[in-house]
Amino acid sequence: MTPDCTSESGPDGASLRIRVLGCAGAIAKGHRTTSFLVNGAVLVDAGTGVGDLTLDEMARIDHVLLTHAHLDHIAALPLMLDAAAARRQGPVTVHALPATIAALQQHIFNGLIWPDFTVLPSTEQPFMVFKPFEVGQQFPLAGLHAEVLPAAHTVPAVGFALAPQGSGALHWVFSGDTGYHPAFWHRINQLPVGMLFIETAFSDREASLAAASQHLCPQSLARCLALMAPHAAYPVYITHAKPAEATHVMTEIRQLNVFRHASGLAPLAIDGLFAGQVLKF
Ligand SMILES: [Zn+2]
Ligand SMILES: [Zn+2]
Repeated sequence: MTPDCTSESGPDGASLRIRVLGCAGAIAKGHRTTSFLVNGAVLVDAGTGVGDLTLDEMARIDHVLLTHAHLDHIAALPLMLDAAAARRQGPVTVHALPATIAALQQHIFNGLIWPDFTVLPSTEQPFMVFKPFEVGQQFPLAGLHAEVLPAAHTVPAVGFALAPQGSGALHWVFSGDTGYHPAFWHRINQLPVGMLFIETAFSDREASLAAASQHLCPQSLARCLALMAPHAAYPVYITHAKPAEATHVMTEIRQLNVFRHASGLAPLAIDGLFAGQVLKF
């Protein structure tokens, strides 16, 4: 779980290598929206962080997993497909909920905002194919095992658990955008978790806005973390804070361990993510 700059999936014993391309709730210099590159071949969400990839790195992405259709999670998808197309042989497979796919087809790849890459350059050999999934579905993906996790957001949304194939492997879990949602915790408490990325989009002074937009703030994050299995000891990384709020959000979150200590609970290893970070386990 140490930052490094070695190859995307080098022979260094690490099974999962997660490169943080974007982990902010909005853009500004040095801040990019949600996108994580897993083992160089699987992109989880396609926010503006994708713009930091080289053309060759983009061309190696065979699969994109989308948590939901909000712009901060899909903004770079149309542009990435266009940029990488000339260097690729086959289509990129975009995995998402049926409702997310329908939104992309209707509002983005509609021939007005952007071309329909599911029929270009030809229906036989398109740049992109959509593959729908459902909450709870498990499937193999580029040498990994993927599971679609429940989330509660203002539009249909999911989280993901990814692990190397094989029983007992530790999972990287990503909440996606979500409010308080016990079903998510019920499921991940059954998994061997190696690392959790969870959103906290707002600070507590915007708690009402967080609730209305079905995001988390530190106080609702605390309610979530109270659902974590008592024996769990995996590190927790915070994502999706707005650039202007990120420092404040992390200050409030660090206070959670003070309250946990007062309640007799073990402190959590909890930290913020930053763009460019690489985590392995
Ligand atoms: Zn969202
Ligand atoms: Zn978002």
